[in-house]
Amino acid sequence: MTDNIYLPQIGRITGIEEETRGARAIKTFKVEFPNDDGFEHACGQCAMLSIFGRGESMISIASSPLVKEYKQFSIMKMGRVTTAFHDAKIGDLIGIRGPYGNQFPLDDWKGRDLVFIGGGVGLAPIWPVIQTAVAQREDFGKITVFYGARTSSDIMYKADFEKLKESAEVQLSVDAPEEGWQGYTGFVPANLMDKAPSPG
Ligand SMILES: Cc1cc2nc3c(=O)[nH]c(=O)nc-3n(C[C@H](O)[C@H](O)[C@H](O)COP(=O)(O)OP(=O)(O)OC[C@H]3O[C@@H](n4cnc5c(N)ncnc54)[C@H](O)[C@@H]3O)c2cc1C
Repeated sequence: MTDNIYLPQIGRITGIEEETRGARAIKTFKVEFPNDDGFEHACGQCAMLSIFGRGESMISIASSPLVKEYKQFSIMKMGRVTTAFHDAKIGDLIGIRGPYGNQFPLDDWKGRDLVFIGGGVGLAPIWPVIQTAVAQREDFGKITVFYGARTSSDIMYKADFEKLKESAEVQLSVDAPEEGWQGYTGFVPANLMDKAPSPG
């Protein structure tokens, strides 16, 4: 464990999940620290991830700080570095330094109703907050999660959302009408206005 946020450490990719496909595909990576190093992070913080010889990118840490064995990152394929991540294989070594950025003050929200709102890969920074709140379920009131994607195939964390429904109200939306879609059709703000949740 190190306190030096500027010192790159070695991470090993131990899991890769294909979340969405297409030109702007998203993959979720589990990264462990093979040298028993690593660092603690708080909900909402990021890390600089590097692929050797390609460069580094700022990516949100998408796993809860309560998970100690690995850190999770969901990466959208954009350009040089993120494409190199999409080409990476399980077992590959990467560089990782951090954590950086502010955190969500989850402890201050205890006893309150929580409403989370996200779209696309923007779910990644709030996912650790949702996971941590759900792990401490009795500390919070009602938890509602609004999430939207362009199409149902662009929805991240599909299996996790099914599990999340056991402890939170999940409001999913897609931008345009789709055969068989049972969630809301329209953009996230419209769904929000429609359901009008009230954080308490
Ligand atoms: C705080 C923070 C948190 C973030 N968290 C996440 C996250 O959790 N997940 C995630 O996927 N992303 C996240 N990002 C965004 C991520 O850092 C960038 O998408 C990534 O750094 C892009 O790097 P790249 O080398 O792949 O792309 P680059 O090669 O830098 O390209 C980025 C985009 O610019 C275009 N481009 C490149 N060069 C040019 C040029 N010369 N002219 C015109 N256009 C060009 C590319 O086509 C591409 O669309 C986060 C960013 C910040 C700041």
